[in-house]
Amino acid sequence: MKWVYTFGDGKAEGSANDRNLLGGKGANLAEMCALGLPVPPGFTITTDVCSWFYENGRKYPEALSADVKKSLEHIAAVTGRTFGDKAKPLLVSVRSGSRASMPGMMDTVLNLGLNDETVEAIAEESGDPRFAYDSYRRFIQMYSDVVMGLDHSVFEEILEDTKANLGHEVDTALSADDWKNIIELYKEKIEEELEKPFPQDPEEQLWGAIGAVFSSWMNTRAITYRRLHGIPENWGTAVNIQAMVFGNMGDRSATGVAFTRNPSTGEKKLYGEFLVNAQGEDVVAGIRTPQNITEDARIAAGSDKPSLEKVMPQAFAEFCAVSDRLEKHYTDMQDLEFTIEDGKLWMLQTRAGKRTAKAALRIAVDMANEGLITREEAVLRIDPSSLDQLLHPTIDPKAKRDVIGTGLPASPGAATGELVFSSEDAEQAKAEGRKVILVRIETSPEDIHGMHAAEGILTTRGGMTSHAAVVARGMGKPCVSGAGSLRVDYRNETLLAMGVVLKKGDIITVDGGTGQVLKGSVPMLQPELSGDFGQIMEWADKTRRMKVRANAETPTDARTARSFGAEGIGLCRTEHMFFEGERIVAMREMILADNEKGRRIALEKLLPMQRSDFVELFEIMNGLPVTIRLLDPPLHEFLPKTEEEIAEVAAAMNVSADKLRERTDSLHEFNPMLGHRGCRLAISYPEIAEMQARAIFEAAVAAAKSTGAPVEPEIMVPLVGLRAELDFVKARIDAVAADVMKEADIEINYLVGTMIELPRAAVRAHSIAEVAEFFSFGTNDLTQTTFGISRDDASSFLTTYQAKGIIEQDPFVSIDVDGVGELVRIAVEKGRATRPGIKLGICGEHGGDPASIKFCDETGLDYVSCSPFRVPIARLAAAQASA
Ligand code: ADP
Ligand code: MG
Ligand code: MG
Repeated sequence: MKWVYTFGDGKAEGSANDRNLLGGKGANLAEMCALGLPVPPGFTITTDVCSWFYENGRKYPEALSADVKKSLEHIAAVTGRTFGDKAKPLLVSVRSGSRASMPGMMDTVLNLGLNDETVEAIAEESGDPRFAYDSYRRFIQMYSDVVMGLDHSVFEEILEDTKANLGHEVDTALSADDWKNIIELYKEKIEEELEKPFPQDPEEQLWGAIGAVFSSWMNTRAITYRRLHGIPENWGTAVNIQAMVFGNMGDRSATGVAFTRNPSTGEKKLYGEFLVNAQGEDVVAGIRTPQNITEDARIAAGSDKPSLEKVMPQAFAEFCAVSDRLEKHYTDMQDLEFTIEDGKLWMLQTRAGKRTAKAALRIAVDMANEGLITREEAVLRIDPSSLDQLLHPTIDPKAKRDVIGTGLPASPGAATGELVFSSEDAEQAKAEGRKVILVRIETSPEDIHGMHAAEGILTTRGGMTSHAAVVARGMGKPCVSGAGSLRVDYRNETLLAMGVVLKKGDIITVDGGTGQVLKGSVPMLQPELSGDFGQIMEWADKTRRMKVRANAETPTDARTARSFGAEGIGLCRTEHMFFEGERIVAMREMILADNEKGRRIALEKLLPMQRSDFVELFEIMNGLPVTIRLLDPPLHEFLPKTEEEIAEVAAAMNVSADKLRERTDSLHEFNPMLGHRGCRLAISYPEIAEMQARAIFEAAVAAAKSTGAPVEPEIMVPLVGLRAELDFVKARIDAVAADVMKEADIEINYLVGTMIELPRAAVRAHSIAEVAEFFSFGTNDLTQTTFGISRDDASSFLTTYQAKGIIEQDPFVSIDVDGVGELVRIAVEKGRATRPGIKLGICGEHGGDPASIKFCDETGLDYVSCSPFRVPIARLAAAQASA
């Protein structure tokens, strides 16, 4: 087994391809070396050793010790310095580095090999004792912190006291003797705190540091980071041991970090910061304010501190050349670490740079235009989910934030408005032309109109899949959910936030991208949908196989969907149309009527409203396919709740409130989601389905006339489990269609299909497909019914499941490929066996999730349908899936 890989002097045993074995840092150090770039020599202990270490009670493989020894000799041969030598001592850094970049999660020790003797040698050799002692005290600080577990604050106290006594403000003002004294104080402090001395033996130091790096893989910080970013535990970290180069050797030395292009705008300009006479971590640690690397950036920042370009023109020129070379070599924007030792440039790290979504688009488009990558590669470079940031107004990053609470980032974008505590107030304010944020403890379907009226939504209870979160995402409205530290008082109409009482009408801002709640208004940036975004979308559409539709029922949603490039509506939820304004009263009349006649009277009132909705929708979609789902939710959801509501409906129906209450009680269900809903309603009350079918067909006739584009409505029957259910409902739809066609004397092409959202429907798909002309996978319900989990109650235990590693992903966010996905595959296969051309799509929330979209592509679906604001994400994800 090869445990150690060396690099240095233009050669390397590993390369960028060995990322899994050497970690990102080690693999790229090897690659840079092999490219002939100036890299201090060193070696990498592989991630295999890390695995071995944990499998064997934190011990090392037998051969490792000899391998490390040999590798140190390799460094000695290149540098002419020997580890522990009293005349020309070799100093090294010990750096962690895993396969995935985990910035700041694990530890690094610099200047290892220094002790009371070697420091003298370095002082003598460099002729600069200040530099030698500065390096030694840095080493003691880092080593004690990382390896010995001593909090670095104890050292800061000593350092601050000394500086104060001497009247100095910056570290660089301290002399060699000052540092020497500080070092003595440090060492005393260590003995006092830990009851053991600071190790003087370089070998002991080295193994201590190696052990600390491997152990840091399992520190809480790293574990949490891995969980948040889905990095597997068993990847492990590598350890890089590398000859030190010194940026703290005086005014001809420096250290810095840079990006080959601007990471926030994507502009093709080297962008970075450096410090003169400093070592590695000083730049990020913010001890001194760093200087700009280029003159351009310095001028733009209005800084009076000279740029690297100015102070070290030669090293700067070389750095520019290296940076250019690396970007071309990796064909991606790089994030670089470098050090200049006495005028000579050394490269210490390169990796693909993190960037904002906006920069990612610009860089991908520019690189494709520069010929560095192909257009297909450009499309693959963009993380589809990141587009979400770009499709909504966002808070100007330069703005000051007065944060009064934090919840979950439930739906992206930011919005400002007056506080209101009820949907009625939200609607009224909107009607008066005011902007509001709707604040509720939690929301329910009755708040839809208020959510529509509001600019943003804030709840104090509920998770990422709570009603508020799901609906807000669907509407593309910013939402912060579950802001538990805020207290809502409905009676007094106040919001209590960190001791501050906000009243109805006060201005707040919600940032659905971060989950923050801010007091007052904040400057915003508007989304930019043309330019680079448009370019990537255009390229994506060329490679995509699946169509992308939107889930939309309101004209606004339909227009948004089209402007984002939706190729039809995959799910129009007719019930949403019944919650608005006076419609809810007619709807309640219909539900609460105790006979068919009563229902038909109420349905007569609903028909024209429903028809005009569809006409508008068809006109907006201008000939694109529109799938309309018949009434789906349990009637339970529409029941009047307050006395006021009951009185209102009773009056409209001309019955007593008592009688109405009786009827309401009789419709109460214990488990409405598995109750009287879906096609069951159409079977109990066929007149409802007939009214809806009539509204659809009459609207199709009208829209065909007004637009000249024939509409092909697709009527979708929800919650079918039995083929006979579909037979029954389809017969009614066909009969209405025949009537309307006769009345209008015109032919309408339409399809009748079903949702596949019950396991029974999936396994009986061959039989259902004899009737159904299309399937649309309703994966929200299919997930609920497959797992036997209620989505509304799942967040409490699913988070525990994730924390305990029982499941990796929330199955409501990303489709459960093995279980729910298997049912989808079965239904696809069986459906196609019966009806080869059957149209297949998905309309659950998964339709906007990139991983689920990949699954849909692999499974051979014809389209995905998602909320309008996710259409661009789905277009890109679909393109990547078929690449
Ligand atoms: P991180 O992954 O946290 O960036 P690094 O291992 O890259 O940790 O090291 C931290 C800092 O120390 C960086 O600024 C790096 O450039 C610097 N550094 C690491 N090794 C050396 C070395 N051999 N000589 C000089 N500086 C080094
Ligand atoms: Mg680094
Ligand atoms: Mg459903």
